[in-house]
Parts: sequence; C-alpha cells; structure tokens
Amino acid sequence: MVADPRGIGMTSQRTRDRLIQRLQDRGIKNQQVLATMRQCPRHLFVDEALASRAYEDTALPIGHGQTISQPFIVARMTEILLQGSPRSKVLEVGTGSGYQTAVLSNLVPRIFSVERISPLLKQARERFYQLKLNNIRLKHSDGSWGWQENAPYDGIIVTCAPEQIPESLLHQLAPGGRLVIPVGTAKGQSLRVIDRNGNTFEESEWEPVSFVPLLSGHI
Ligand code: SAH
Repeated sequence: MVADPRGIGMTSQRTRDRLIQRLQDRGIKNQQVLATMRQCPRHLFVDEALASRAYEDTALPIGHGQTISQPFIVARMTEILLQGSPRSKVLEVGTGSGYQTAVLSNLVPRIFSVERISPLLKQARERFYQLKLNNIRLKHSDGSWGWQENAPYDGIIVTCAPEQIPESLLHQLAPGGRLVIPVGTAKGQSLRVIDRNGNTFEESEWEPVSFVPLLSGHI
C-alpha cells in the first residue's frame, strides 16, 4: 500500500480533528501550532501496524527502545519554544521518528536535528523527502554536543531527558534564544525552559514530563 498523507478511516481528517480538539481542551492555545498539527500526517511517522493509533494522544513505540512523543507534549513544547519572539533557526536533539521535526519545519524557516541511532535517522530522512520538507538538515551524532557548525540557534528543543543540562547547548543558544528541555531520571523529570539574555541564563521549571533518557555516543 502506498502511504497516503491524507489518510482514511482511523487516519482521516475527522480523526485528526478530534485530536486537535483534545489538544485545545488540554490548554494548547497557539493557533499556528494547532493548524500545523491538524495537517501533519502522524500516521506516516509510525509503523503501518500502529497507523490506526496515530491520532490517539499517546506516545507509541518506534523501535530501538524509543517512542514517538505524545501529541500533547509535542504541541506544548512547540508552543513554549515559539513564545515571546519568532524563532528562525532551531536545533532539535533527538529526531526519532521525525514527527516533532516535521511539525517544527512548518513553523520555523530552518531546522537542524541530531539523532544518535542511525536507522531512525535514515527513516526520518526518507519521510521528510516524501513529504517534501526541505528546510530540515540532519546529523547522525550525540546531540549533547549540539551542532556547533550551525550555531547559534534562537531555539533549541530536546526530546530526550538528560540528568543535567548539557553545557554545549547553552553555549549554542543565541542571545534572546530559548532552550526547552526535559531534565531528570526515570524516577522523575520536569520540563525546563532556559532563556538567554546577553550572557545570563534564566531557568524556569515547568510541568512534570516523561521522556526516554538522553544517552551518550552514537550507534
Ligand atoms: N521527537 C521524537 C522523539 C523520539 S524519542 C519523536 O517524536 O519521534 C527521543 C529520541 O532521542 C530517540 O530517537 C533517541 O535515540 C534520541 N536520543 C537519545 N539520546 C540522544 C543523544 N545524545 N543525541 C541525539 N539523540 C538522542
């Protein structure tokens, strides 16, 4: 079967609209984020066997012990990243399925995304090609080092949880830039937001979250 971005049955626009309604009910306000997620074919970012569950508000397995993030958390982190000033160049750590990257690619002119598991990166690359998302650059690497060559970024979003915020990510943040990152262990994590003002960093702690761990090295 050829994958169809429009979807049918459990992947149809009606099913997607129900998800968007749920995101709104849970407090997502940014209309651009909601409109983008309404269009984005999440069923193409999971295995075909899971496609019928793609518009449930839940994380799903993508192989290699990893998960595609829950739509609510994708919406929430994207909304937080875009708050305040517009972002023109964003770094993502943890490409995974590529779903969060695809959502961002519609909202930000240039996206750089780093993933440590090679087969996941390859699959994500194919999806972006198929969906003609051509403002995304990918790198197979340990994202705790960021991606120095393209720094600074006015937004950095991390979709796996380190125990502590990697210094390199702070250094690669432009003045006025914002880092959105889950921090903690399997026992407990919270979402942190770090704003760079000149050379000072202002950190705030947001709601509890549950992400796969940030691991070092690449495979
Ligand atoms: N945004 C993705 C989330 C995938 S789960 C999605 O919605 O599909 C988090 C991803 O972070 C996994 O693919 C995992 O391999 C990756 N990851 C973990 N540690 C990493 C690191 N140090 N550098 C880059 N990617 C990392």
